Amino acid sequence: MNKKYSESPEQILIVDDLPENIRLLSSLLSENGYQVSSATDGKMALSMIDRECPDLILLDIMLPEMDGYQVCRYLKSQEQTRHIPIIFLSGLDSESDKVEAFKFGGVDYITKPFFVEEVVFRVKTQLSIIKQQQQFKWMLDKQIAERKVAERELNKSRALLTGVLNSSLDGVAAFEAVRDPQDTIVDFRWLIANPVAAMTVGGTIDTLRGKRLFVEGTPGHLFEGLFDLFVQVVETCTVIEKEHYYDSDSLQAWFQIVAVKLGDGFAMTFRDISDRKQIEITLKNTNNLLAYQANIDSLTQISNRRRFDEYISQEWSRCAREQEYLSLILCDVDYFKAYNDTYGHQAGDDCLYEVAKAIERAVKRPADLAFRYGGEEFAVILPHTESQGAMKVAADIHQQIQDLQILHVSSEVDNIVSISLGVSSLIPDAASSPHALISAADNALYDAKIQGRNRIIYKSSDLSSDRSRDDEDQHN
Ligand code: GH3
Ligand code: MG
Ligand code: MG
Repeated sequence: MNKKYSESPEQILIVDDLPENIRLLSSLLSENGYQVSSATDGKMALSMIDRECPDLILLDIMLPEMDGYQVCRYLKSQEQTRHIPIIFLSGLDSESDKVEAFKFGGVDYITKPFFVEEVVFRVKTQLSIIKQQQQFKWMLDKQIAERKVAERELNKSRALLTGVLNSSLDGVAAFEAVRDPQDTIVDFRWLIANPVAAMTVGGTIDTLRGKRLFVEGTPGHLFEGLFDLFVQVVETCTVIEKEHYYDSDSLQAWFQIVAVKLGDGFAMTFRDISDRKQIEITLKNTNNLLAYQANIDSLTQISNRRRFDEYISQEWSRCAREQEYLSLILCDVDYFKAYNDTYGHQAGDDCLYEVAKAIERAVKRPADLAFRYGGEEFAVILPHTESQGAMKVAADIHQQIQDLQILHVSSEVDNIVSISLGVSSLIPDAASSPHALISAADNALYDAKIQGRNRIIYKSSDLSSDRSRDDEDQHN
C-alpha cells in the first residue's frame, strides 16, 4: 500500500477483451464517481499499471495471450502492485474457477453477465475495505512515528540522567518498597545506583539492581537503623535528612543522607562528610577542654572560684525552689604563710595540691563539690544538706587533712599542716542572694581562727539581715 491515504477519486482499471463490456462498466463506474481506465489484454494492462497504479482492478479471466490468472500472479509477485485488490470477471461459473481465482490472490469474483448494482456494490465494498486498511495503516504508521520520537526523547533524557548521575560526587540511589501480603513494608529493593553509590556499598550498578537493602549480607545493609526512617519517607511523604555513621569492613565514614519519596519507594542521596565530622568532633573536644579549663584551678585540679560563683547561685535557686537546705564549708590552711617561708613556695604549692585532694576525698555525694576559693582557702558546697550533715563532712575533711601528716614545724597550733573550718546552713530564699550564707560561713571561719585554729565552727545564717543589706544596697 504505497498510495497515501487521500480523498481524491479512486482509480479503477478495467481489463476485458470485449470493448462492449468495457464501455458498460466504464460508464457505470464513472457515474458512481470513480476515475476509470481500461485495457483489452494482459500486457497492455501491466504497462498501464506500471505507469499509474490503480486503486482496484476488474480483471477478466479469459484474455488473449496472457490470461487473467497470469496477470494476477504477476501483480501479486511485485512489491509495488501486490496490494492492489483484484476482482475477477468471468463467464465461467464453476466453484473450482472461483477457488482458483481466490488462490491467485483475487479478492472477489463476479460472474458475467453482471448485474449493474452487484458490480457497483462489490467495487464499493472492496474499496471501502482498502480505505479502512489504508486508514488503519496510516494511523499505525503515525503511532509508530510518534513512538519513535518519544523513544528518541526518552533515550536522550536517559542519557542525560545517566550523565548527571555518573558525574555526581554524591551517592545517588533509588529503591522500591518490598511489601508483605498485608501491604506492610518489610524491606527495600535497589532500582538504580550511580557509580559513587555502588562503590560505597561495594557493588556495581548491575549487581545492585533488584537486591534487597536490609537483608544481612547484601550490599548496603549497613544502612541498618535507617529502616524506620525510610518507611516514614514512603508512608508519609516526609523528606528526611540524617547524619549516619557507615561502618563496613572496607569503609568507615560519616554520611549526610537525604531521602525523598519516589513512587512506592524513595530516592536517596548521600555525601561523605567524614572530614567535616572530624573537624566538628575536634572542635567539640576543644570546646569541652576549654570549658573544663575555664572551670578548673590549674594548681589543685579542682573547681575554681569562677565555678564556685556559678554553682552556688545555681544551687541557691534550686534549694529555694525545693525549700531544701544548702550548706557551705569554708576551709583555710593554718599558718600557711609560715609554711611557705619554711619550706619554700614550691613545697607550698605541693601542699595545697594535697590539701585539695584530701578535701575531695571527704566530699562524696555527686552534688557535693569542692572548690579552691582563693589562695590557701577552699570551699565545699553541699546542696540538700542540713547543718548536722555539713558538720559531719567538715569533720571528715578535718580528719583527711590530719591524716596527710604534712610536717609544719612553723605552725603555732601543731607540728603538721592543719586547717580551720567555718560552716553554715540555711534554706535559701529566692528573694535573697547566697551572700548571707557565704558571710555566715566566713564569720564561722574567722571565729575558728580566733578561737585557736585547727577546728570547726558552725554559725547560722541570718537571711533577714541579708535582705535588709540588699535593701540598703538598693537604697544607696
Ligand atoms: P592563718 O592561719 O591566719 O590563715 O595564717 P596564714 O598565714 O595562713 O594566712 P595569711 O593570709 O597571712 O597567708 C596566706 C598565705 O598563703 C600567703 C600566701 O603566700 C599563701 N598562698 C596563697 N596562695 C598560694 C599559692 O598558690 N601557693 C603558695 N605556695 N602559697 C600561697
Ligand atoms: Mg587565708
Ligand atoms: Mg591561712
